[in-house]
Amino acid sequence: MGIFNRAPKVEKSNNQAELANMVLGTISDGVMIVGQDGLIKLANPAATTMIGYGNANSVIGLEYLSVIKLEDGQGAPVPDEQNPLAIAMRSGKPVTTRKYILVSAQSGKRTPVSLSLLFTKNYHSDRIITFRDIAKELEEESAQSEFISTASHEMRTPVASIEGYLGLALNPQTATIDDRARKFLEEAHTASAHLGRLFQDLLDVTKLDDNHVRIQMVPTEIRTLVKSIADSHIEEILKKHIKYSFGTVDAMKDKKQIEQTVYGSVDHDFMREILDNLIENAIKYTDENGEIWVNVRGDGDRILINVTDSGIGIAPDDIDHVFQKFYRSDNSQTRTIGGTGLGLYLVKLRTEAMGGKVWVESSFGDGSTFYVSLPRITAEEYEKRRIAMVNQQVRDAFNSPALAKQQAAAQSTPVSPAPQPQPVQAPAQPEQPQPTPQPSAINQPEQTPPTPNTQNNLENNNQV
Ligand code: ADP
Repeated sequence: MGIFNRAPKVEKSNNQAELANMVLGTISDGVMIVGQDGLIKLANPAATTMIGYGNANSVIGLEYLSVIKLEDGQGAPVPDEQNPLAIAMRSGKPVTTRKYILVSAQSGKRTPVSLSLLFTKNYHSDRIITFRDIAKELEEESAQSEFISTASHEMRTPVASIEGYLGLALNPQTATIDDRARKFLEEAHTASAHLGRLFQDLLDVTKLDDNHVRIQMVPTEIRTLVKSIADSHIEEILKKHIKYSFGTVDAMKDKKQIEQTVYGSVDHDFMREILDNLIENAIKYTDENGEIWVNVRGDGDRILINVTDSGIGIAPDDIDHVFQKFYRSDNSQTRTIGGTGLGLYLVKLRTEAMGGKVWVESSFGDGSTFYVSLPRITAEEYEKRRIAMVNQQVRDAFNSPALAKQQAAAQSTPVSPAPQPQPVQAPAQPEQPQPTPQPSAINQPEQTPPTPNTQNNLENNNQV
């Protein structure tokens, strides 16, 4: 390069600063730089407009939390200590979230935003906060999911009817068909069942994604609930000649351990959907003569449920993706097994809606264990919540319009007064045969669910 082609150094850096200013002044995303002390060092015009401050200079030197006011999805102001930016600042972990609404200090205008906080690698370790107006994006997503939801709903009904009629055609008691026709109809029946499942899953995904599902948390003894759901799959499991067991395994001594009673507050429909999905997958991805083991145990202040199978396992490349929407592992084994790729995504949404977590441990070709962890409550808390729930049900029933009508009718006929509902009292004696320890004290030595596909894992009580 000749000497005349070389740009003078000073001019170049001036140019870069100018260009950076131009970019910051033009983009519609709000950008702020905040120092370690929480004071604002720089804000672009989009940022000051969105937070409702006149010009960029008016916020320099102010504390960032005093100018960034947020509301949650329900319109409740977010206290400073729960502000996601403050949490990210404290923990040192960057954050990006679309859950909040930015409130303008001047006009009170509310803007749904994608909010993020990143840490710079410079000497001062500044923080960069950005907010992007996502109102239009949310509108488009909502229109899209409404379309999917309506389409799935409309198509589910005729597909159910097709599936039903094909079922009748295949049933020797209702129809006579030759072997060739049976083969074709079986294919059609499988395909229509798959389509029906896909529409149902799509409907569930749109409802859950949009928070349109009412969740009813009920204080529950979890082991009994999980066992009844898992046991309802015994017939399917045995049909495939798979060994099934439920309960604690003492792999070393091969004898039953005392089953632990664990309590939680859960939505029963969600629990059924979650476990049905995990167990159906375990059956689907396990070959004949394999094994499935389901267990529930307390783990400190958490409840840990495992669904373990000795099936095909998940390849390392797939394991981080299986909970994503529409993700299906693509290998010679899964290609022949039907599925929508929505099941585990729904499991994740439903588990998280109940304050839980779900994850998988697996070795390819050697089985998988899916874990669901949920918040645990003590026996005392369970009893308190149960009584409160029953009392609420009594009050609701008493205040229901049907009952009010009955009472009005009764008042017009002179009869002895109807008995008033009595609130449930806490029993004098604790109802539990063995009190469950407080979460802080529940760290008894317990078994860790063993790795999949070991013979002992699947030998225990309740074996079928
Ligand atoms: P699908 O309808 O395809 O089963 P899921 O969302 O339930 O969709 O599961 C996503 C993918 O995760 C599956 O396609 C499969 O590759 C893998 N997977 C899920 N459960 C198991 C299992 N128990 N064993 C092996 N692979 C599994």
